Amino acid sequence: MRLSRYYAPTLKETPAEAEVISHKLLLRAGLIRKLTAGIYTYLPLGLKALNNVARIVREEMDRAGALEVLMPAVQPADLWKESGRWEFYGRELLRFVDRHDRESCLGPTHEEVVTDLVRHEIRSYRQLPINLYQIQTKFRDEIRPRFGLMRGREFVMKDAYSFDKDDAGADASYWAMYKAYIRIFERLGLKFRAVSADSGSIGGSFSHEFMVLADTGEDTIAYCDACDFGANVEKAEAVCPPPGDIAPCPPAETVATPGQHTVEEVAAFLEVTPDRIVKTLVYVADGKTVAALVRGDRELNEVKFKNLLDAKDLRLASPEEVTAATKAPVGFAGPVGLAGIPIYADRELALAADWTVGANAADAHLRHVDLGRDATILSFTDLRQVAPGDPCPKCGTPLSFAKGIEVGHVFKLGLKYSKALSATFLDEAGKEQFMIMGCYGIGVSRIVAACIEQNNDASGIIFPPAIAPFEVALLNLNAKDADASAKADELYDALTAAGIETLLDDREERPGIKFKDADLLGFPIQLTLGGKGLARGIVETKDRRTGEKGELPLDGFMDAFVAWREGVRQGWGLD
Ligand code: ATP
Ligand code: MG
Repeated sequence: MRLSRYYAPTLKETPAEAEVISHKLLLRAGLIRKLTAGIYTYLPLGLKALNNVARIVREEMDRAGALEVLMPAVQPADLWKESGRWEFYGRELLRFVDRHDRESCLGPTHEEVVTDLVRHEIRSYRQLPINLYQIQTKFRDEIRPRFGLMRGREFVMKDAYSFDKDDAGADASYWAMYKAYIRIFERLGLKFRAVSADSGSIGGSFSHEFMVLADTGEDTIAYCDACDFGANVEKAEAVCPPPGDIAPCPPAETVATPGQHTVEEVAAFLEVTPDRIVKTLVYVADGKTVAALVRGDRELNEVKFKNLLDAKDLRLASPEEVTAATKAPVGFAGPVGLAGIPIYADRELALAADWTVGANAADAHLRHVDLGRDATILSFTDLRQVAPGDPCPKCGTPLSFAKGIEVGHVFKLGLKYSKALSATFLDEAGKEQFMIMGCYGIGVSRIVAACIEQNNDASGIIFPPAIAPFEVALLNLNAKDADASAKADELYDALTAAGIETLLDDREERPGIKFKDADLLGFPIQLTLGGKGLARGIVETKDRRTGEKGELPLDGFMDAFVAWREGVRQGWGLD
């Protein structure tokens, strides 16, 4: 492909709306353009990158035995009512009525549609297992579409759904997908981790998220260097020793704490350490006021709390709501005498007595509080967020933290949809059984952004070779010169004939502009044909990832190039 004939409108200025680096660079390099909030057009270079990701995903899904289908974007409400999600899914589901007043939605995911397909076709255990997948455009009316391709409203996903006749089969289907995902992310040349994301809300289910490691990731992963433990901190269990003997606690008493709102202020004022204070957090769960208690030096994990309550919606109470519930300004809430409000405590709080808590009165706290004696706690469970250095739940080694971007998710669904939609088959004994399902998503378009979040520098994108729209940028610095252009064409033809995707910069532009654009667009390999080099019979090389420069002879170029390219690919962890 010749750049002079290509459409890659680069921008000098970063568009103000872009906050994260991948969004800035995708716009600046002319890979995408915004149509409206969270909805983008892929320009030629952007589409090539997207297709490269899709191709590898498709090859590995096929290799794992999954079968490709293409399901519709528009889905009837009836199916969603059958599964119960019409009500539950919330406003991310874009609903509309057609000209016949039929309620419909744009598919944010396809469990209903695929289960409906399979229930009408599969009758016998002999037809199982089956795994159907598609690479398709999803629509989710995200409340805050942002970060470009990272969180769009319209985005490309690979979603797969497995159907099995028994639990052993469902587990095998799950691990086959898990292994396929490992191969996919390795082939894409990304640094990633598979982390357990067991939500625990469906009996016997298990789930892993695949995280591309990047400092700018929205998710935080806790992982262990000594064993294979890795978990999203949203889900990671906070290890807690079993309760032992608890020293007796003197009677509770009120102490004045004028103007001391935060744990740190109260701790300093009363000369205790924050780990002797109980933090009382007032929340509103599905419209009902509830309270959560964690140690003063800990953070509440809202996901764990929400799961415990089985709440659809959970939010921190407003200052007015806190005052209404506790009869005190924010900063003085406590579990003693908090009438009518369900209180849940982190299990660490069962390891000791003699706590300092808010007194539910302005400028006052209670000390010597024994939660068992002085308050009504509905349960002591794991509610706190793990922190770096906490012991690994598997082996006890201190945990490390990293930031990640969720690019894939494998999930054992169990019977949730097959029961709701009556997807059954006849087993060996002729008995009707529900199919056991799994679902497996990959954010194909998000990967294009995530690979840039992981690989970029001040000059622009650094594309992994497998994703790069072109592997090689061939810069002809003397595009006006017939001899130089003939030589550039010759190299271009040889590279192209060898199946190496090459973009020839044949524009009549200054060398500085060509170098800048090649860096910005992030092609892994740059080859430069300049006047001096041509006279000496060499082409200059640059590995975009390391910045390392070198030379290759024009005489016997392809052999030398192929050998050198091996090294570039190995640097990306590719073989
Ligand atoms: P998130 O927590 O990031 O919203 P999710 O749990 O809603 O993700 P899934 O429903 O499991 O995601 O979808 C499968 C994959 O699709 C995700 O792993 C992610 O890579 C991708 N994905 C989800 N939502 C978006 C979006 N709004 N824009 C781009 N990709 C997305
Ligand atoms: Mg989501």
